[in-house]
Amino acid sequence: MKLSFHGAARGVTGSCHLVECAGRRVLVDCGLYQGGREIEEDNAGEFGFDPAGIDQVLLTHAHLDHCGRLPLLVKRGFRGEIVATAPTRELARLVMLDAAHLQEEDGRHRARRLARRGRERDARGPLFSILDALNTQDAFGRVAVYGEALQVAPGIRATFLDAGHILGSASILLELQEPAGLRRRVLFSGDLGNAGRPLLRSPTPAPAADAVVLETTYGDRLHKPIGPSVEELYGAIADTFERGGNVIIPTFALERAQELLYYLRDGVEQRKLSRSTQVFLDSPMAISATAIFERYPAFYEAQTARRIRDGEDPFSLAGLHFTRETAESMAINRIAAGAVIMAGSGMCTGGRIRHHLKNNLARKHCSVVFVGYAGQGTLARRIVDGARSVRIFGEEVAVRARVYTINGFSAHADQAELIAWHAGSGAARTFLVHGEEPVMRVFAQCLQKTEVELPALHQQFEL
Ligand SMILES: [Zn+2]
Repeated sequence: MKLSFHGAARGVTGSCHLVECAGRRVLVDCGLYQGGREIEEDNAGEFGFDPAGIDQVLLTHAHLDHCGRLPLLVKRGFRGEIVATAPTRELARLVMLDAAHLQEEDGRHRARRLARRGRERDARGPLFSILDALNTQDAFGRVAVYGEALQVAPGIRATFLDAGHILGSASILLELQEPAGLRRRVLFSGDLGNAGRPLLRSPTPAPAADAVVLETTYGDRLHKPIGPSVEELYGAIADTFERGGNVIIPTFALERAQELLYYLRDGVEQRKLSRSTQVFLDSPMAISATAIFERYPAFYEAQTARRIRDGEDPFSLAGLHFTRETAESMAINRIAAGAVIMAGSGMCTGGRIRHHLKNNLARKHCSVVFVGYAGQGTLARRIVDGARSVRIFGEEVAVRARVYTINGFSAHADQAELIAWHAGSGAARTFLVHGEEPVMRVFAQCLQKTEVELPALHQQFEL
């Protein structure tokens, strides 16, 4: 019985863990590396195992850094089954198609750049194509239901538990048994949510396990409570409108965008925001994700679920505009003041947000509000860290807009929540993943009565 780590090992992205038991090979997640160009180069590298030899992939949730390399896995020979909850399956389809579209675009840009230097021959195609992403849809098999054990393969049972991180997200308990009799319970946290949010339930407490594979994104800090963070957001918007500018919010398309819509609606209802507030959700992916969210009220926290069943739309407000078409997106450029513009990507590494930053960042009446994680090496991180100017589309843009970092919106558990969740498992062995190494080292000091490992990439352990 073996456990090995092929991503998110002393890093935050690219989650991919391999369990070998009873002659079967099961992956938990198969995510993309995200961040600077150097990090993303790793996506083209070897998986560290033979994709054709994998029997199942259990998918914890639909974020790109957990599902983004699935099309590449299929392209390289995976013919097994992917198991996920119903919303994860729908959201992952969206995320993978979007990623494939970006890969194809990148491939074309690269080819053109090389052609200009007479090096057409060095051009390689995209990492994976839209066709690969579509082929991946066919691999989705059984649907996981929270709390119901699923016999994944002989000797391997999986129970998906609500992780409260994004719609459909799960922690996964594996009950493993070798024919010779060895038994182990291994618990994968997936990404754990931050309790007390309006849309999702709190993470299900950890069941008893022998070993835990635990995310550590925020293993070194405590979040501010959500209430004051929402007030801070309303304050930032009101201040900016008074100064005569726009509010730019780089946002992740899944969960964060919908949660912000929910709070903006609430703000207008409670008259903390003006009724005339114009909100642009300038992200085709976030718009499609919002439609998926509306189909799964059963996955929400009870009060919100009730509101939806009563016919209320928690993601709608009077001044809301969904801008799917490029022309509509470009029209936003003509608005000088009074708009809240939400666009992806959350870390500003791609997507329409870069156009809005280019247009608004140098204007001192405007604001940029960061409400999510900003990974090292990303444009978001440079702005958060106080850069006086940043490069966008090859141009140096001065940072004169007011920059807010509001961290209470995190979709991740903080240090105290991680420790409490881990304690519930009573695990004797703990593998820390999905965190920056210094953070992991701080967090490792906080765990007691367990042997802690910080697996290196491709490192393997006997269970
Ligand atoms: Zn996630």
